[in-house]
Amino acid sequence: MKTPFVTKEKLDEIIREIPTPFHIYDEKGIRENARLVRKAFSWNPGYREYFAVKAEPNPVILSILKEEGCGCDCSSLTELMMAKAIGCGGEMTMFSSNDTPDNEYVYADSMDAIINLDDITMIDSYANAVGKFPKKMCCRYNPGGVFKVSNGIMDTPGDAKYGMTTDQIFKAFRILKSNGVEEFGIHSFLVSNAVTNDYYPMLAKLLFQLAVELQNDTGCHITFINLSGGIGIPYKPGEPENDILEIGEGVRKAYEEVLVPAGMGDVAIYTEMGRFMTGPFGALVTTAIHEKHIMKSYIGVDACACNLMRPAMYGAYHHITVMGKETAPLTNIYDITGSLCENNDKFAIDRMLPKIDMGDILYIHDTGAHGFAMGYNYNGKLRSSEVLLREDGSFELIRRAETPEDYFATFSNLPVYSELMKELS
Ligand SMILES: *Cc1c(COP(=O)(O)O)cnc(C)c1O
Repeated sequence: MKTPFVTKEKLDEIIREIPTPFHIYDEKGIRENARLVRKAFSWNPGYREYFAVKAEPNPVILSILKEEGCGCDCSSLTELMMAKAIGCGGEMTMFSSNDTPDNEYVYADSMDAIINLDDITMIDSYANAVGKFPKKMCCRYNPGGVFKVSNGIMDTPGDAKYGMTTDQIFKAFRILKSNGVEEFGIHSFLVSNAVTNDYYPMLAKLLFQLAVELQNDTGCHITFINLSGGIGIPYKPGEPENDILEIGEGVRKAYEEVLVPAGMGDVAIYTEMGRFMTGPFGALVTTAIHEKHIMKSYIGVDACACNLMRPAMYGAYHHITVMGKETAPLTNIYDITGSLCENNDKFAIDRMLPKIDMGDILYIHDTGAHGFAMGYNYNGKLRSSEVLLREDGSFELIRRAETPEDYFATFSNLPVYSELMKELS
């Protein structure tokens, strides 16, 4: 069973002030989980988690994670700006971008972020854009082929657009070294939402072996290895959960086995988790506003795929709790829909739920990563607000909802809409 991190009474109190739909985040859960992650890798003195900003780009959340020792992993100009705004300059920011525009390299260099080059051609791009190389740089690796994790999870790096081939990364290290780079990192991201304790240890072993070969062959001094993101969460009730302590221990074993004997026991381990850091600690709160019974039964809510795209985009499962009906029998089969003129705008299909009455509050679980973040404005829909449930039980609006004014702000004939907006108010 999945339990909301907020009570119905608390939600009712919040909704009196902040109308649905909104995403709500649990400060306590985020902090406790971040501490567990740190503990899992505490055997490695240089360890750092660089939170993947794209998963939940809100400066208040980023600041909480920074207080827990996390840096920022960015891949665009505005993400870099957000990292800078919360004080994550220098080595606290990792710039793991791809297909990178010149101005983003210039900005990342200006804040002394660690640059992770996605491709060998990016060496020239970087040189042309910035005019010099930093002391420390990272290259992203793609082993190609198929990457299998023990419990059957597999992915096909061979089909992925990211990273450099084995030949290229050797060549890239040599070129960077000849240009004065002194410290090197290796980065790789092979499996997404991996719900197995084996993914990081297996990836680590692969990268550690590569690191030993690279250091022996090129003489480059490798100072960190970035395991990137991909650690999953159980979206469905009863699904197995990752045990981050066991994952950290698995990486330690590979480290002792491969790096330490090669005299590389000073290498720092970095991660760039997004989903695992905030996914379970966010929820989309929405109100049932219509019901419709044709060939099937539909419950229309006031949120839509613009607020949470994963079900529409990947058919992803998100658990739904009808607040106040947690123990009611599951008597009805519903499709839970938003109002987009797109038939994939469904948060759930053929879901067994208690009988839903109009005005009921639906709590859509696990939207704390890649939830709000993937929002968009299709059908002229506006992005929702975001609310933080503080550790002391108080709540705080950490992003207001968009208004028509925001939506029209980029139009060149804004005055016309300004007039219309006056009529609205
Ligand atoms: C998306 C992304 C992450 C985070 O991925 P999760 O699946 O949320 O852990 C980390 N690093 C890079 C480069 C990414 O693109």
